[in-house]
Amino acid sequence: MTPMHLALPRKWRPRVFDDLVGQEAVARTLSNAIADGRVASAYLLTGPRGVGKTSTARMLARALNCDKGPTTKPCGECASCREILERGESLDVHEMDGASNRKIENARELIETVRYAPQRDRFRIAIIDEVHMLTTEAFNALLKTLEEPPAHARFILASTELHKIPPTIVSRCQRFAFRALTVTEIAAQLARVSKAEKIDATPGALRVLAGAAEGSLRDALSLLDQAATLAGGTVDETRCAEILALVDRDVLEGMYSSIAGGDRAAAIAALTRLTDGGADPRHVLKEFVAFLRRALLAAAGAADTRDLSKEERERLTVLSRAMPYENLLRAVALTLQAEEQVRKVDDPGLVVQMLVLKLAELPRLKDIEAAIAGAPPSAPSARPAAPSPPPRPSEAGPRIVGLVPVEPEPEEPAAAAAPPGGEAESLQRFHEILDTKRRVTAAQVSLAESIGVSGDDLVLRFGIDRAAAKEALEEHAAKKLLADAAREAGLEF
Ligand SMILES: [Zn+2]
Repeated sequence: MTPMHLALPRKWRPRVFDDLVGQEAVARTLSNAIADGRVASAYLLTGPRGVGKTSTARMLARALNCDKGPTTKPCGECASCREILERGESLDVHEMDGASNRKIENARELIETVRYAPQRDRFRIAIIDEVHMLTTEAFNALLKTLEEPPAHARFILASTELHKIPPTIVSRCQRFAFRALTVTEIAAQLARVSKAEKIDATPGALRVLAGAAEGSLRDALSLLDQAATLAGGTVDETRCAEILALVDRDVLEGMYSSIAGGDRAAAIAALTRLTDGGADPRHVLKEFVAFLRRALLAAAGAADTRDLSKEERERLTVLSRAMPYENLLRAVALTLQAEEQVRKVDDPGLVVQMLVLKLAELPRLKDIEAAIAGAPPSAPSARPAAPSPPPRPSEAGPRIVGLVPVEPEPEEPAAAAAPPGGEAESLQRFHEILDTKRRVTAAQVSLAESIGVSGDDLVLRFGIDRAAAKEALEEHAAKKLLADAAREAGLEF
């Protein structure tokens, strides 16, 4: 693989308080407190995602533990500074992310660790990201430590959901509220980054990207990264609009694939990603109707494909075959019904959720019908792997494909199986990194049957019903993102 440049969100992570975009009040208060030697034993950084909380936590840890500190201008040279800059952690600074379930089990242990004297630096510091995810047991341990904090112990807590943190904890912290950035502020920062990175982008394009990032500078930088990679020249408004539309379509198709596979949880998760991304449930439904209509026509061999590229046509054909034809018909009928309903209710989100759950039952419905008719239910293993040609309108027979893995590659299966020991940890990290960089890609990766390293390749295997995810990941920007994340996670390939 070719060497990859450092992804923009990481490269442009703020390293000194003055770099914090749009959080001047936080930066000033923190700097003043440190300069005056007023060091609290616990800090709580709250606010929306992607605005600099984790970066600030690390800056604060450096400020507190720098050889020349506590100082508002950590040297960046001493062992403590260098370790934190490189890894976000050091000998005496421990970072954990409450959003990672595997690590949450260790939260209590980490909190206990901070009671012990530092090994080398001034303070022993625990950085806990998404602290609201802690278990009651871990919160109790934290509270106990905060009630009688050892002189050397410092906690830097961060969270996007203040209301989920027990008030007993909040009251013992010095709190800093980060705010969502405005489109203008984000666009201005994107302009600075583009100039420094020699990315040719129009002001209009930067505003489109800034608007789509919904207050998160990190998301905006990630979008700029994708746009620059995909544009291959000037990043203009049209190109950006295309990239943003692509994001929606990927998740929408992922939802459809999950429905076709009868995977309720994945289907609901995809829907949540769409609505969390700011899309109105009514709009999601409208887009879904349009997509189903295209899929149905493709399955019937009657699609009007004049506007589609060859790749898009093939993709649509594969997707249309993930569901038996009559289930596709049922799905269209149910979705049109829901579209009627959704206009009359106060909570359109609920209607769409119920619809998705209903649709995800269709694969099972098929089996029930078969059982009633006296035929043996079709076992997944007995289903044909290769899609047959689309049915003519006169052909009413069911078509069931896509519930079995596609393309089992003829190589030693152990090589690409779940990796052992340390590699499992890297893999976990890989998912986490992807999740922070581009949620859509992370979601697509999570649909893989298996992820593993085989020789010089990172191998992701997908079932045929995951064709949309597989194809989306084959795109250049996504592949590059995967390679970056794998390298950052220490997955050797
Ligand atoms: Zn230092």
